[in-house]
Amino acid sequence: DAGTAVAPLEFAVTKNLAAATPARVAEVLENPGFGVVFTDHMVDICWSDKGGWHRPRVQPYGPIPLDPAASVLHYAQEIFEGIKAYRHEDGSIHTFRPDRNAARLQASARRLALPELPTEYFIQSLRELIAVDGRWVPSGADQSLYLRPFMFAKEAFLGVRAAKKVAYYVIASPAGAYFSGGVKPVRIWLSEDYARAGKGGTGKAKTGGNYASSLLAQSEASAKGCDQVVFLNENRYVEELGGMNVVFVFKDGRVVTPESDSILEGITRDSLLQLAEDRGYTVEKRPISIDEWRSGVASGDIVEVFACGTAAVVTPIGALVGDGFDEPQPLGELALSLREELTDIQYGRREDKHGWLLRL
Ligand code: PMP
Repeated sequence: DAGTAVAPLEFAVTKNLAAATPARVAEVLENPGFGVVFTDHMVDICWSDKGGWHRPRVQPYGPIPLDPAASVLHYAQEIFEGIKAYRHEDGSIHTFRPDRNAARLQASARRLALPELPTEYFIQSLRELIAVDGRWVPSGADQSLYLRPFMFAKEAFLGVRAAKKVAYYVIASPAGAYFSGGVKPVRIWLSEDYARAGKGGTGKAKTGGNYASSLLAQSEASAKGCDQVVFLNENRYVEELGGMNVVFVFKDGRVVTPESDSILEGITRDSLLQLAEDRGYTVEKRPISIDEWRSGVASGDIVEVFACGTAAVVTPIGALVGDGFDEPQPLGELALSLREELTDIQYGRREDKHGWLLRL
């Protein structure tokens, strides 16, 4: 019954007695990197088929006791989310469209036969963590606290079926500016040999297996001197990068992004497209083939291509590289201008016309 009114949970809070000193926190926030240092606490809620969601806790960050037969370790029944907390100039802490991440976690749960966490619990879990670890939200330019909610099958059972015992956790990691020295256009490798998802598969869900299946293609990309991979579907339509969506800007004012039932529907993409529409661009969600991409760039119809996602926000694509070609991509103004508008909203520097922020 996700989505209906749900009474708040009573979290039991155990403070971390070995929490980082203020000096250590200050040192980390100076240069946090991405996903390497974690805050002092984590949130955890249990689920069982008999008891539903229960035992909500905030506890010291640390290893998770797991039976070696826990089915996630064998059959990858796991989902996750990624969302940031931003510090505004007045010190307050906000997150961005958490209802969307909650809904996507519910959709991922349905696909992976996991229980749906109600939106209220999702948002409460973020609040509980910020209540104890708010000091880890940095205040520097383009910095944030990256929140990683995740859920997995913890039942110790080697049969292949949906687990009857599940755990939901939230951990957090301070994040610096994704690109030190400004936003740099990336080189994209066109993967022809590997797919990240297939028709009827799990591409639309945020589940670990999709990322596992992208790793070899990502290594291939690195070996070819590229930063990221773009995946196609079986009909040679553009899907997405390993962890970002793709957007094409056309000369005539259309902004086009792939429509597909095997890509992850990004919340950053949705927000940028809304801002583009507000500016008078025509937004189209439709299949776009690799041939349309390459010929559109060659003819000058496509004037800009960019990638977007929570971690890096917006990244212009500077080159498309494949077997036997290396094609520079046109760079325009729109990607960076939308990036600025979006981050201005997230950091409270600009009016939040769409009501996207939630104070934590
Ligand atoms: N596609 C994939 C495969 C991703 O992992 C992500 C990051 N969550 C995105 C797209 C972008 O989604 P969002 O804008 O919600 O971060």
